[in-house]
Amino acid sequence: MEKLTPKDLIDKGICPTCYDKEHENVLYGDNSSKMLFQNDLFECFLVGNPRAEGHTIIISKKHYKDMMEIPDDLCEEIFIFAKKVMNILKDVYHSESVYLCTMCDGPMNHFHIQLIPRYDYEKRGSKNFVKERKEYIENKEKIEKIRTLLGYNK
Ligand SMILES: [Zn+2]
Repeated sequence: MEKLTPKDLIDKGICPTCYDKEHENVLYGDNSSKMLFQNDLFECFLVGNPRAEGHTIIISKKHYKDMMEIPDDLCEEIFIFAKKVMNILKDVYHSESVYLCTMCDGPMNHFHIQLIPRYDYEKRGSKNFVKERKEYIENKEKIEKIRTLLGYNK
């Protein structure tokens, strides 16, 4: 079978994130080594092509296209969780700050929040949202520390 790309799926009106979950991570691969926390409602994991060390995504398990569509109780839960993760990332990675963004990108977007650390050698400002992507380097010690702080026992 021909390998589908995220773009092919979007063109067919299929959400790539949902497709990936329903087809054993065929698009994005197994990310269990990057998982920092998960429950019935959302997952939180390190990005495989990060814009900064510690770049993290929080994503709803159910499909909502963006923040405008999520129920209030999920919105509350996910943003309070995001605040906790931001503080943990700042401490664990010794970043100066952590930026938050969420895209409302159209119907085939799948609601997620991005948390992007900014380090003291980096300039402040909106360019932090589009920093060049870099290689993911696994740091098991930091991952374990974050999992412990978030109470995630896998
Ligand atoms: Zn989806």
